[in-house]
Amino acid sequence: MGARDASQGNAFRHALAFDLSLVLLPLAASVLLVLLGAGAAWVLPLALLPSAGRSLYHLIKLALLIRRQHRLAPPFPRGLWGDIYRSLARYQQRGRKSRKRQIRFTRRFREAANAVPDALVILDKQHRIDWANPAAARLMNIRWPEDDARPLTDILTNPGLGELIHDGEYMRPMDMAPEHNRAIMLSLRITPFGERKRQRLVVGRDITKIYHLNMIRRDFVANASHELRTPLTVIAGFIESLQDAPVTPAGHRRPLMLMRNQTDRMCSIIEDLLTLSRLEMNDSPDEQESVDVPDEIHLLLQEAQALSDGRHRLESRVDEDLLLLGSQPELRSILSNLVFNAVKHTPEGTRIQIIWCQDGVGPRFTVEDDGPGIAPEHLPRLTERFYRVDRARSRESGGTGLGLAIVKHALNRHEGRLSISSEIGHGSIFSCRFPKHRALARREVDVSAMG
Ligand code: ADP
Repeated sequence: MGARDASQGNAFRHALAFDLSLVLLPLAASVLLVLLGAGAAWVLPLALLPSAGRSLYHLIKLALLIRRQHRLAPPFPRGLWGDIYRSLARYQQRGRKSRKRQIRFTRRFREAANAVPDALVILDKQHRIDWANPAAARLMNIRWPEDDARPLTDILTNPGLGELIHDGEYMRPMDMAPEHNRAIMLSLRITPFGERKRQRLVVGRDITKIYHLNMIRRDFVANASHELRTPLTVIAGFIESLQDAPVTPAGHRRPLMLMRNQTDRMCSIIEDLLTLSRLEMNDSPDEQESVDVPDEIHLLLQEAQALSDGRHRLESRVDEDLLLLGSQPELRSILSNLVFNAVKHTPEGTRIQIIWCQDGVGPRFTVEDDGPGIAPEHLPRLTERFYRVDRARSRESGGTGLGLAIVKHALNRHEGRLSISSEIGHGSIFSCRFPKHRALARREVDVSAMG
């Protein structure tokens, strides 16, 4: 018998001793009345004895039934005690039903969680394993209950996972090859839940097939673009020579010019595809330096003026002191694609404003125009490869349909985000946000360069 049972037993005995007074008190009263010589009055307290005895009997019976967790079943006594028994029996029945429901629900939930092909792991407040489904054994090498209370990072040792669990950006999945089986590619998503969101649900999805398909697609595009580049350069070279040759008949000049335009377009597409393939190779630029963004913007403004040929009103607001840590060619690609898009895709008279500044969130590069704007259904698709709002017009303006895809990938490699907002008739805003830690002050950079 446990300590808890022992203390319950003592309490029960005390209560019983107290309630025996129900019977003992009338007896004592009768004895007292006899001793005091009160005649036949001693009979009166004794008359109470049967009902007091009955109450005591039911009280003890009920206390024992409840204590032993027995079920209260009919037949029930008559009167008030019968009501009490019936109410308690109903209460017991409700409790039993709700317990059964809970057990059924827990069992169904377990069965469902066990049938899920994704790995599911629950971490406690200290980020130790609290529960895992069978798929977690195959995908993450986590066996439950054997690995109960082990820190997740003891089993999945991939760099960056610890930070992601502690204070990570939970909306962003983390792709990784687990150490126990490098042939698997997992996409991990971590969601905080529970009291004060201190527990974590880790969902690991097997993305091996998608990952390989993506690699095949990436390699195919990179190889095909690479293979096409050389023959195309040769063709473009010959067309150029023929255009310049005095022996070329006058009637051939226009077709040659059209051929030249088309080969130039194909060369641009191939160059953009190769750029995209390069950007997709890894998550961050190979080389990072302090990039003089204000300088890049001033150069770009001149090029944009030339492209616009005076048809647009170009304005800028640039924080001259704000530089950025990153890759110069990639950042230039981001800025130029957005600025040239505003010139290419808006009509004459459009006002284009270029902003480079820093606020509480971090550095921000924005290109804002008051052109015709873009309909809302196109906005989520603009960064897809070859997606154009108006195909014919984009081709005319020399667009490849790859510019915003390049911007998105290059920004990802700089931990940046592109946001696009637009309203028909009111223009568009393309904004790039960079994290604070990439911001550099010109003076600090100059001083360190001198040192
Ligand atoms: P493109 O080579 O066609 O410019 P992008 O990927 O850079 O390709 O842009 C995709 C599409 O987004 C463009 O074809 C154009 O329809 C639309 N777009 C981009 N910038 C603007 C803008 N400032 N105003 C209106 N439409 C734009």
